[in-house]
Amino acid sequence: MRHTRHGWWLEEAGEVAPESPLDGDTAADVAVVGGGYLGMWTAWHLLALEPELDVVLLEASVCGHGPSGRNGGFCETLWGDAPTLREKAGDAAALAVCRASEQAVRGIGAWCEANEVDAWFREAPMLRVATTESQVGSWDDTVDAAAALGAQKEVVSASLEEVRARCASPLFLGGALYRLNATVQPARLALGLRAKLLERGVRIHERTAAKRLGKDGSVEARSGRVRADSAVLAVNSAAAGFPGYRLSLAVASSHIVLTEPVPEVLEELGWTGGEAIVDSRTLVHYMRTTRDGRIVFGWGGGAMGFGGRTSDRLELAPDVIERTQQSLLRFFPQLRGRAVTHAWGGPIDVSPTHLPIFGSRGRVHHGFGFTGNGVGPSFLGGEILARLALDRRDERTGLAIVEPGRTLFPPEPFRYAGGSLIRRALMAKDAAEDSGRRPGAATRFVASLPRRLGLHLPR
Ligand SMILES: Cc1cc2nc3c(=O)[nH]c(=O)nc-3n(C[C@H](O)[C@H](O)[C@H](O)COP(=O)(O)OP(=O)(O)OC[C@H]3O[C@@H](n4cnc5c(N)ncnc54)[C@H](O)[C@@H]3O)c2cc1C
Repeated sequence: MRHTRHGWWLEEAGEVAPESPLDGDTAADVAVVGGGYLGMWTAWHLLALEPELDVVLLEASVCGHGPSGRNGGFCETLWGDAPTLREKAGDAAALAVCRASEQAVRGIGAWCEANEVDAWFREAPMLRVATTESQVGSWDDTVDAAAALGAQKEVVSASLEEVRARCASPLFLGGALYRLNATVQPARLALGLRAKLLERGVRIHERTAAKRLGKDGSVEARSGRVRADSAVLAVNSAAAGFPGYRLSLAVASSHIVLTEPVPEVLEELGWTGGEAIVDSRTLVHYMRTTRDGRIVFGWGGGAMGFGGRTSDRLELAPDVIERTQQSLLRFFPQLRGRAVTHAWGGPIDVSPTHLPIFGSRGRVHHGFGFTGNGVGPSFLGGEILARLALDRRDERTGLAIVEPGRTLFPPEPFRYAGGSLIRRALMAKDAAEDSGRRPGAATRFVASLPRRLGLHLPR
């Protein structure tokens, strides 16, 4: 097994030569900081709105080599957040966000087609499954929310037979189907987008970390400075390192193991429809297939900290990978004796509400908090940030995920100590439930803290 920092997707997509770092001072209409999906979609939508715009994008490493190039490739809507949206913003606003997130999923598919980027975009419903009795029906609030919003087809309960007909894991006990979902090869999407931005004339400077953003829209890096009318901060979990954002998000990590091609196992499971699957644990497992017949299997149970950063050491945590591999075999015992070829991980930007957050402070516009669901919603985020940067208001900037009101994570001493304590409790709770036991009272109490804090855990 190869345990790499960047993962298999980027290997499969092929290497790119980095663009030159920023060298000296320059001026631009908009400076985008961060070359993941969010920063790159923002640049794309800026040019869609104003083709003559001069856009500079600064990326600390190489565009698409962060989580955008190494995630699970679930391209989801925000229907899973419908209950929270209804509670926080009301029915009309909740429906508007969910529908806009559907347009984002379709928008990515249409973009790939129009730009001839083969990112393995494949539409198929997403399955949320139960693997323990305690998880059965945990999706009811989402099914109910979709129905209450007049969109009952978007999320529906699925019987044990319906679930097993799509994927016959012996662990599955029932579930729910999310009608609109897609899977992508995430690195092909990210690098395809990077290539199109370069073609369109966006000035991309890689290996250039922004150190400071001025409220006037200027951006400073060690090797130079960009004077711009507005700046966009799209750096995922690194936002916690910028003044004023420290307590706006928490940082966790997610990890993936990948099998060798196993098409005959997929046939045996009946898992040939391209469904993305997620279980209903607190620290979720997620799984999907690839075009060449592999299984991608991930676990959102890595590091957890409040207002801090995950380090590379945690991204490569061997104990987390080992647990993930063990879980893979529990889900699919047919894989015994088959090779796991790659493993990798990366940071997750957890928002207090599980929903992404967009907004502005002076001429700096920010987006973060995808909480493990950024592939689809970052397209929408790019539409929003492009409009904020150009000071245009429309139905996109009026969505309830724009300036949603400030919810913060607790300050010290809760951060790291609190994060690892809660992670241990969540692991103990999930383990007890996996083996059919009720977790102890202390475990239940500590494990309930994230929800009390408004923290919904990511994958
Ligand atoms: C293992 C894993 C699995 C996941 N699975 C899924 C999934 O299946 N579906 C899903 O929807 N989401 C998933 N996610 C989350 C998803 O990858 C993210 O939500 C999404 O990529 C966020 O895009 P982004 O542009 O905000 O962040 P990123 O891709 O992290 O991009 C931010 C960029 O900013 C750069 N940067 C940081 N600091 C600076 C600085 N100071 N100056 C300049 N640049 C800087 C970074 O180098 C990085 O390239 C997963 C994440 C991980 C780690």
